Amino acid sequence: MSEKKRRVLLKLSGEAFGGGQLGVNPDVVSNIAREIAAAAADVEIAIVVGGGNFFRGAQLSERGMERGRADYMGMLGTVMNALALQDFLEQAGATTRVQSAIEMTQVAEPYIPRRAERHLEKGRVVIFGAGAGLPYFSTDTVSAQRALEIEADVVLVAKNGVDGVYTADPRLDPTATRIDRITYQDALQRGLKVVDSTAFSLCMDNHMPMQVFGMEPAGNVTKALRGSEIGTYVSN
Ligand code: UDP
Repeated sequence: MSEKKRRVLLKLSGEAFGGGQLGVNPDVVSNIAREIAAAAADVEIAIVVGGGNFFRGAQLSERGMERGRADYMGMLGTVMNALALQDFLEQAGATTRVQSAIEMTQVAEPYIPRRAERHLEKGRVVIFGAGAGLPYFSTDTVSAQRALEIEADVVLVAKNGVDGVYTADPRLDPTATRIDRITYQDALQRGLKVVDSTAFSLCMDNHMPMQVFGMEPAGNVTKALRGSEIGTYVSN
């Protein structure tokens, strides 16, 4: 019998897809896809994609939109990212499925956790789009929830511009240092913002570890997928 593979939930923020700009930057997404595809034969990979490169509901509502509708726009943005990632993953040789929390059967399967697990067992990369399908949620929180539901071993949070959890914001405080390991309790008490607090507490309450790492330099995403302890490990 073959050994059980490591199963991970990778969170990619929308910012990563846009390369700092609005929309999708194909070169950037293609690089991320190649790094994921390089680990896909050895690791079961599920991905939650953010949508901040298109719309953030909270920001649109500050500018006068009704929050629920703005959040649905945010969720639709994540589906565009999911399709872009799917395309480049397939070009890089991976087999993929997109599952959307909002039904749109022409472009994605509906979210069916048992089916997602079956895809993973068959070596397919599963991309979850449309967040939870619920306004007032973030894709960080959805990453924690999906990781729990598909029984992933860890949530891998890929960050842009920062390579882990720091004692303070390194952009504001030059004396800030990176932390190798920290407990959820400690991170919450110290007010260290890694992911949003709902995601944090969901992981803490259900003993789901999280690894926060930087997408730079090239190769880091593959390393993290394969289990290398880069960045910061957050656990109970
Ligand atoms: N969103 C939502 N419910 C969800 C997930 C996302 O309403 O379950 C909306 C929300 O408006 C959010 C936007 O989608 O601002 C994009 O997601 P997020 O901000 O988490 O993306 P990221 O910051 O990771 O790029």
